[in-house]
Amino acid sequence: MGGPFDLVEHVPIPAYVFRVDGDDFILEEVNAAARAHNPAIAQMRGRSMLQLYQDQVQAREDARRAVAEKTKIVREMAVRRYDRTEATMLVELSFVYAGPDHMVIFMRDVATPPIAEAALRESETRYRTLVDALPDAVLLRGADGQILACNDVAVRLYGAGSQFDLLGTTAAPITKKWTVRKESGDEVDLQDMPSRRVIATGVAEVGQVYEVTTEGEGSRWYRVAAQPIRGSSGKVSGSVTMFTDITERLQAQQALRESAARLDVALSAAKMGVWEMSGDKRIDFWSANLSAIFKLPVSMEDFAKFLDSVHPDNRAAVRGIMESLVGANHDDAIEHEFRIVGTDGVTRWARAFARVRHEGSKVRLIGTMMEVTEQHHLEEELRRAHRLESIGRLAGGIAHDFNNLLAAMIGSIELMEDDCPPTAREDLATIRHGAARATELTRQLLAFARKQPVIYKDVDLSAMVTNVERMLRRLVGAGVDLAISKSGSVLVRADPSLLEQVLVNLVINAKEAMPNGGRIEVLVGTTLHSVPGSGPKSFALLEVSDSGIGMDEETRGKIFDPFFTTKESGTGLGLASSYGIVKQHGGHIDVLSRPGHGTRFRVLIPLSANVAGSDPPPSAAPLHGKGCILVVDDEELVRNTTVRMVKSLGYDVLVASSGEEALDVADRYPGYIDALVCDVSMPGMDGPTAARELSRRRPGLRILFVSGYSGASDDEMVTNSAFLPKPYTRSDLAAKLHEVLSE
Ligand code: ADP
Ligand code: MG
Repeated sequence: MGGPFDLVEHVPIPAYVFRVDGDDFILEEVNAAARAHNPAIAQMRGRSMLQLYQDQVQAREDARRAVAEKTKIVREMAVRRYDRTEATMLVELSFVYAGPDHMVIFMRDVATPPIAEAALRESETRYRTLVDALPDAVLLRGADGQILACNDVAVRLYGAGSQFDLLGTTAAPITKKWTVRKESGDEVDLQDMPSRRVIATGVAEVGQVYEVTTEGEGSRWYRVAAQPIRGSSGKVSGSVTMFTDITERLQAQQALRESAARLDVALSAAKMGVWEMSGDKRIDFWSANLSAIFKLPVSMEDFAKFLDSVHPDNRAAVRGIMESLVGANHDDAIEHEFRIVGTDGVTRWARAFARVRHEGSKVRLIGTMMEVTEQHHLEEELRRAHRLESIGRLAGGIAHDFNNLLAAMIGSIELMEDDCPPTAREDLATIRHGAARATELTRQLLAFARKQPVIYKDVDLSAMVTNVERMLRRLVGAGVDLAISKSGSVLVRADPSLLEQVLVNLVINAKEAMPNGGRIEVLVGTTLHSVPGSGPKSFALLEVSDSGIGMDEETRGKIFDPFFTTKESGTGLGLASSYGIVKQHGGHIDVLSRPGHGTRFRVLIPLSANVAGSDPPPSAAPLHGKGCILVVDDEELVRNTTVRMVKSLGYDVLVASSGEEALDVADRYPGYIDALVCDVSMPGMDGPTAARELSRRRPGLRILFVSGYSGASDDEMVTNSAFLPKPYTRSDLAAKLHEVLSE
C-alpha cells in the first residue's frame, strides 16, 4: 500500500478505494475498518463496482457523479451485515472524489444505540432461524422493491446460486425466464405481484394462487401471501412475501376430481346413484343422477320426503327396513327392491343397497340406488311366459281331444244332412252351428297353445291391413274414429289368416275399451327390437292404440291368460290366442297402458327374408274322385267319420287304427294305393314314421296328414306330404285329396 491509500488505511470507518475504469470503478484497496466489517472484502479487490453493487445502480451513479463533479455525495442505503445474522442495516455511504483516477467510498453506520442494537441482533437471529426453517419461500423487500433478505427456499425458487445473488436486486429471476399466471390463466406483470402491490397499497394480500412456469422446467403452483411492513412513523417501508408451493396439493385435488368424474360416468351408465343418511334420517348426500334417473325432486332433504315418492304398496316395507337399520347396534348391510313413482307419474323399480356405519355414538347409512325396471320387466315377462306355457300345454291337450270329438261330430252331421228328413233339418242346423262355435273356441285355445296349424306365406302386412280395413270399420262402428297408417310394403313370413285374427282381436278390444267412443290408430311399419343374445333386430310392427279406459298394473299382468276377462260377456281368449299366434310366428307382443290414458298394443313379427311373390289364387276343386285311399287314425270316431267321408266322395277305402296296422293292411292289399290319409300323433308308430315306411314300400304314394296340432316339425314331416288341420269338413277333405292326387 502507499500513496493516497495510507491516508485511508487508518480511518476508523470502512473505506473502499476504487480506481476509475472508463464507465466503471475497480475496487483497488480497502482499509482496516472495512476488513474488520467484512473479512471477505479483501478478496473482492480487482472487482468492478458493477459486480459488487450489481443491483444498486444508484451506487454507481453516485460514484460517477462524485468523480464528474469532483465532489462528495452522501447517500443512505440498506446493506447486508456480514455477520452471522446477515440482517440488513442502514448505512450512510459517502462517495468522495480522490483525484482523476480514484474515488473512495466511506461507510458509516447510521447510529443505532448500542443496547438496542444488541437486542435487535438477537431478535433478528431468532427470526432468521425461524424463516430458514420454513418450508415456504420468504422474501423481505424494501420500500423500493429491493430484496433485503430471503431464505434458502426462496433462493431455490428463484434459481439463484446463493442468497447474495438475490439481495439488493429488484427484478427477481436472475438466471431463468419466468411466466406467472393467475388462476384465471391471465399472465401477470411481475411488477404487479403482491409483494410489490402491498408496498403501494399498504393492504395485506393472502391466498392468491399463481402458476409459475419456468422455461425448461414446467410449471408449479404457489399460494402467495404478502404483508406490508410499516416503520415507526406508520409509513410502509417494505413487505414480507411468502410463497407456498401447492402444486402437489392441487394435483391431488385434481386427481380426486377426475376420479370422482370417472365414478360419476360409471354410476350414470349403471343407472345408479349414491346417497348418505344420518341417524336422525337427514339425507346428507344425494347424488344428482338419482334425481335424474328416478325423476325425483332435485333436493332430497330427509327420508320422509323420499318416502313420499316410494310406491304406496312398498312404503311400509321400506320404512321398516330403514328403522331396523338405524336401530341396529352393529354394522349391517341390506339390499331391497321397491318401486318409486317419479314426478312424471312413471313407476320405476329401484334396487337400493345400504350399509350401516357406527361412528362413535352416531349412526350413518351409506348406500346406492339403481334402476332395475327393465330387469323386472324381463323377469316378469319370463315368469309370464313360463306360466302361459304350462297353461298352454294343458289347454292344448284338452283342445286336441275336443277337436277329435268335433271332427267326428261335424263329419257325421254333414253326412246326415245328405239324407235326413226335412223335419230334423232345423235341429241338425242348430247342432252344426253349436259345433262350429265349439270349433272356433278350440281353435282359439289351440292358437294360445301354439298348436294352431300354420300355413306360412310371404305376407305384406300393409296389404293385409288394407284387405281387412272394411271389415274393421264395420266392427268399430260409427262412434269410434279409426285411423290407419301404413308405410309401404312390410313383408313377413306368416299365416295371414292368423295375423288377421290378431289384428281383429286387438281392434275389438280397443273398441270395447271405449264405450263412449274415441279413436283407434292402427299402424304398420318396422322397428328395432333387442333380442336377448343377438342385439337389436329389425321387426315388422303392427300397432293398435286406443284412447280408451286403459288398464292398471294388475290387469295388465293377466291379460294374456286364457279366460281372463273383465267383461261381462268376454271369453278371455282374444289376447290369449293372439299371444300364442304371435309367439308361434317368432314374434313379440307388448302393451303400454295406464288407467284413463288409453292402451297401445305392439305386435312385432320377424321380417321376411324373401322378396314379394303372391300366391296363385285357389281354384275351385271338384268334390268327387277315384282311387284307393288308406285312412289311418287311432281315434275311432274320427276314423269312422273320415272313412265315410272318403267313401261318399267316390273313393275306395282301406282302414287302419295304428301305424303298425297300416303297414300290415298295405302289405296284404294287392292293388294300387293312391293316397294315405294319416293322423300325425298316434300311440306306437306315429304318422310320419308309418308314412315314410309306406312310401318306401310303395313309391309314388301320396300322403295327406291330418292333425289338430301343427305339431309336426319339418324333420318329422315326410317330403311331398300335405297337411289338413282338424277338424275339417267334407269339402275341405275333398279339396285337399284332389290337390294331393293331382300333383
Ligand atoms: P275379452 O276381450 O274377451 O275380455 P281378451 O283376452 O281379448 O278377452 O282381453 C282380456 C282383458 O284384457 C279384457 O277383458 C280387458 O280387461 C283387457 N283389455 C284388453 N284390451 C284392452 C284395451 N285395449 N283397453 C283396456 N283393456 C283391455
Ligand atoms: Mg277380446
